Amino acid sequence: MAAETVTAAQKDAVLERLAVIRQNITDACADAGRDPADVTLMAVTKTVDPQLINTAVDAGITVLGENRVQEFLSKRAFYRESAQVQFIGHLQTNKVKQIIDKVTLIHSVDSLHLAGAIDKAAAQQGICMPVLLEVNIGGEASKSGVSPDQLPQLLKEVLKLPHLRAEGLMTIPPPTADPAEQDAVFAKMEALYAQLSQEAPLHILSMGMSGDYAAAIRHGSTLVRIGSALFGPRIYPAQQ
Ligand SMILES: *Cc1c(COP(=O)(O)O)cnc(C)c1O
Repeated sequence: MAAETVTAAQKDAVLERLAVIRQNITDACADAGRDPADVTLMAVTKTVDPQLINTAVDAGITVLGENRVQEFLSKRAFYRESAQVQFIGHLQTNKVKQIIDKVTLIHSVDSLHLAGAIDKAAAQQGICMPVLLEVNIGGEASKSGVSPDQLPQLLKEVLKLPHLRAEGLMTIPPPTADPAEQDAVFAKMEALYAQLSQEAPLHILSMGMSGDYAAAIRHGSTLVRIGSALFGPRIYPAQQ
């Protein structure tokens, strides 16, 4: 194990933030008449020291979310084995093989091209890979994700792939400070999820991050992806 690089105060801060997040999730579920057991709290690990990640796992976090293949591969040996890892970042087809046997769910399938690459890699491993389809709900040119218009067709094609199992939808909504706008976007995802659940046995709606998870839960989210509200502001390494 590497030497201690985080302080006791930093660990305590994570535990305190975790308690606040859990309470907020419970409150949002109460508002929506939902059972908190139906909402998974994922800890998003990008830029975070593995020792702080393990602090969260020791406090009961069971799902970690990874964005970057290289960062994940360099940190995973330090993670407790009790937490499962899911991949939430943009995934290039040539990197699928590096993670296929190390993650339990891929949230970011947004093209048949990527789905095909995952299907092929899963076949080679002799597994069936659970995936979510990532939806570009705000129609932002800069974001990955399939457009809501093309989503039904993509789902139809993915359902034909023998080594993929479509389990739900994921989205990263456009940033907004307007609660009404935020609500409208989540409501749109909720409706899409209900619609596509008639085509496939979906059970995961991955939406909600540090700034908007309460609203996402009120619109049916079953998995919230929390980074900065749990671990504090991200500090990116200086540019070379
Ligand atoms: C970074 C990230 C998050 C967490 O963001 P916070 O706002 O820090 O909670 C969630 N989902 C994805 C896909 C991310 O890249």
